[in-house]
Amino acid sequence: MKKNDATLRKFFQPKSLVLVGASSTEGSIGYEILKSILRFGYQGKIFVVNPNAKEILGVACNPNLESVETEIDLAIILLPKKFVLKGFQECVAKGIKNVIVITAGFKEVGNEGAELETELVKIALKNKVRIIGPNCMGLINTDNSIKLNATFAAELPKFSKTVFLSQSGALGAAVLNTISQTGFSFGQFVSVGNKADVNENDLLEFWGADKNIEVITMYLESFEDGRKFFDLAKRITPIKPVLVLKSARSEAGLKAAISHTGALASSDKIVDTALNQSGVIRVETIEEMFETASALQKFSLPNGNRVAVLTNAGGPGILLVDELERNNLKLSSLSSETEKRLREILLPEASFGNPIDMLPGATSQIYKTAAEILLDDENVDSLIIIFVEPVMVNSFDVLTELSSVQKKSKNPVLLAAFPLPQFWERWNESENKDTIIYKSLEIIPKILKHLWERKNQIEKYLVKSEQSERIKESERVSIQKIFNSKKNNILQQTEINSICNKLKLPIAKGIIVKNFGEAEKKIKSIQFPVVLKVESTEIVHKSDVGGVIVNIKNLKELKVAFTQLQQNLKQKKYSSKGVMYLVQEFVEGGIEVIIGGLRDSNFGPLVMFGSGGKLVELIKDNNFALAPINIAEAEKLIINSKIYPMLNGFRGDKKIAIKSLTEILLTCSELMTKFPEVEEFDINPLIVKAEKGKSKIVDMRIIVS
Ligand code: ADP
Ligand code: MG
Repeated sequence: MKKNDATLRKFFQPKSLVLVGASSTEGSIGYEILKSILRFGYQGKIFVVNPNAKEILGVACNPNLESVETEIDLAIILLPKKFVLKGFQECVAKGIKNVIVITAGFKEVGNEGAELETELVKIALKNKVRIIGPNCMGLINTDNSIKLNATFAAELPKFSKTVFLSQSGALGAAVLNTISQTGFSFGQFVSVGNKADVNENDLLEFWGADKNIEVITMYLESFEDGRKFFDLAKRITPIKPVLVLKSARSEAGLKAAISHTGALASSDKIVDTALNQSGVIRVETIEEMFETASALQKFSLPNGNRVAVLTNAGGPGILLVDELERNNLKLSSLSSETEKRLREILLPEASFGNPIDMLPGATSQIYKTAAEILLDDENVDSLIIIFVEPVMVNSFDVLTELSSVQKKSKNPVLLAAFPLPQFWERWNESENKDTIIYKSLEIIPKILKHLWERKNQIEKYLVKSEQSERIKESERVSIQKIFNSKKNNILQQTEINSICNKLKLPIAKGIIVKNFGEAEKKIKSIQFPVVLKVESTEIVHKSDVGGVIVNIKNLKELKVAFTQLQQNLKQKKYSSKGVMYLVQEFVEGGIEVIIGGLRDSNFGPLVMFGSGGKLVELIKDNNFALAPINIAEAEKLIINSKIYPMLNGFRGDKKIAIKSLTEILLTCSELMTKFPEVEEFDINPLIVKAEKGKSKIVDMRIIVS
């Protein structure tokens, strides 16, 4: 933590700064940024370098950096691209350790630009200089003691304890330019541009350690090092919320269908997994991001997902209810006591179910009392109040009352109000002007969902749970030997069998044979009924080519099965010459699940769990987690799967199946983390049974690099 803390601070709290390449041409970036810095009252010293001008906007120009006599904390380079390298070298020579390069035309335009960018980074590394950018729109710190707006955005947001990183300069500008309408506020803003040096991980770490910052928000298009982001986020989210808006590029499967797991993992699915597992709140719009950020600071987290809705208008209430369901929230069923109390104050024509429609006549007093009654009901975890201004009721009074209800409540109370336009002028002058009042309904369920998710995450998953090692060192060494001596990138059945035995993974008993004759001799080691399978690393889906014949009851049937299987292969144009066969114990009944492992180039090892069998790709019950996982995470994988209700519906002891599954998942997670050469593996299916020790892996594939 220390490293970034020390080296990044001067970007945000410079006592002095220099604009290298400030321009006297109005409208140019080199002019507009200086104008911003002056206009918003930067508290430090400003220097300007421009050999061709005497002064710009009243600031005297220095012909070069050398002639600036004081020490300088921060340089902002605005030079044309061809002068950037030279300008940067001058900053280094001057001893400046923090440089923002606004200039574009680097990595984003191709090879030549990329080379120049690499050159900058090389010099920076050598001289312990940190760079933000290039190709960025600068940075803002709204803290009163700094007041730095080093961007070309026309507005300075209000101060808050939220910080905002944008990978896109244009998106950052769009947010800043509309700040007077949206009212979004933040303490610090950075546009990271090409992330040549300073990236989201540096800032996550830096902001995570800063006690004055309460919420971190980021718009990202890529992760510089996904696994590092995950590790940092996991450490920071229990302390403060991190919100990420990540643009999703839909890529289908990451890899050709060499395994089911690979086919089911899209890059966005992996991003989603990493964010969720590390406790990051993923949002879909800018509005959702900033509204959630302020809600997280303003409201306490709800104890559950049950919501009461209080309104004076029917339509909006109904619309809201649909949205609640879509966001995993439930309408509270109110107690009879609550209904009784509401009947005492409301007109008999009102609706007393949830949503409670008080009708347009509801006055400020009625609003207040009804809200308090609802908040007394222990079935209410959060309250949403809708107010549409009717003719006879004074909006100002209603919202003043509701604002005080909101302040007193220990549960979240979210207000949506639609008063006449003239209301706002008076309101914005009043002492309650900082009350959060939503002007649209759609956003409310999303915010509430995030508040509830955060509560859930903090309680269940962000707590430290011990990670017990399952694979002992001696076992690891002996398994490693198998990997070291493998003949092929796709492991053979015999290799898989011995790995499973060493890992205590319950692989079904089986023998590999060349033909029926050999099977007849060796069959004693397993009992009928059996299954006959073609054994070839070339055939990914054996059943697709008629390569699996199940429930063979005796030798006679086995002989027939061999002939049948060979015919099937012939029909599918596979030569049966040299092909091997697996005669495997037949596992009757049970539920087929898939367990997979995958190594992502950016996020590292992952495990997957879901419905198994032939239909996996169709059902898409793909639940991923970054490995290593702990017990809570393994259980979450199972519980979140579509197949869970089936697993949970066993007649026998349900817990056995879930417990043994959890253990298998934990071992599989270690298979990925302890053996870096494992690229992917699939267990499809594991046939799960309720009885202890009866679940069996009947098909497994391991791909190594
Ligand atoms: P593949 O996935 O290559 O088609 P599998 O070995 O997974 O081949 O077999 C396909 C299906 O056959 C399984 O999903 C399962 O329904 C059934 N099956 C395979 N082996 C067994 C077995 N030993 N006991 C019971 N059913 C089996
Ligand atoms: Mg299979």
